[in-house]
Amino acid sequence: MRFDLVTLFPEFFDSPLSSGLIAKALAKNIATVHRTNPRDFTRDRHRKVDDEPYGGGAGMVIKPEPVFAALDSLPVFPRRQVIYLSPQGEPMTQDLFKALISDCDQVVLLCGHYEGVDERVMTAVTREVSLGDFVLTCGEIPALALLNGVIRLLPGTVGKVESLSADSFEDGLLDYPHYTRPPEFNGLAVPEVLRSGNHQAIAQWRRDQQLQRTRRRRPDLYEKWQAAQSQLSSDKP
Ligand code: SAM
Repeated sequence: MRFDLVTLFPEFFDSPLSSGLIAKALAKNIATVHRTNPRDFTRDRHRKVDDEPYGGGAGMVIKPEPVFAALDSLPVFPRRQVIYLSPQGEPMTQDLFKALISDCDQVVLLCGHYEGVDERVMTAVTREVSLGDFVLTCGEIPALALLNGVIRLLPGTVGKVESLSADSFEDGLLDYPHYTRPPEFNGLAVPEVLRSGNHQAIAQWRRDQQLQRTRRRRPDLYEKWQAAQSQLSSDKP
């Protein structure tokens, strides 16, 4: 899968792309990431990418010309999405990551700054995605979150595929608690069942924990999961 980051601050991604599992995935060509800076497409002496808003008001707006020129410079793959990171977009979810993996071979991520981009840029955008109901200074952080979440799910990035399947949101529930050595730390013991060697009891305990946690922490998710379960059982012949 190809990612194109359209960003005024390409250096922002230096460290995240060169560390951990993402760096390894890129080295294995599981995905490729290209960075394009709209500032490189300005024609004036000051390489100006922003201007005052029509109608007045505080803050600057990213000009359409350098953004369109940057987008036009990119190759166009057949299955492509151009995503503008925006607090006004659809929420970023695990389901969105999976949909991008199944539907796309190229994801263009347009990162905003200041008050955002000139609204006419939206004619080149196929989707707007939000990291959450809050406002950041830039689109690079949500773009990085999306890129990280999608690359993590691509085959070959994570060594043990089983480790993905129990993760939060995979089957509509939150993950169960994890423990490692030592068996006791500061008077806190690892639950006995996890040290019992009884795989069936361990699986049952983990499932119970997933259900309890989801019900307590995310009643909205729990309700959705319950509805999906009853749909499944009513679909059974
Ligand atoms: N005026 C915009 C609004 O209220 O909708 C906010 C602009 S914000 C200060 C600057 C840029 O950061 C946005 O253009 C967007 O790319 C990015 N951004 C900020 N918060 C975001 C969020 N929650 N999700 C995705 N992108 C966000």
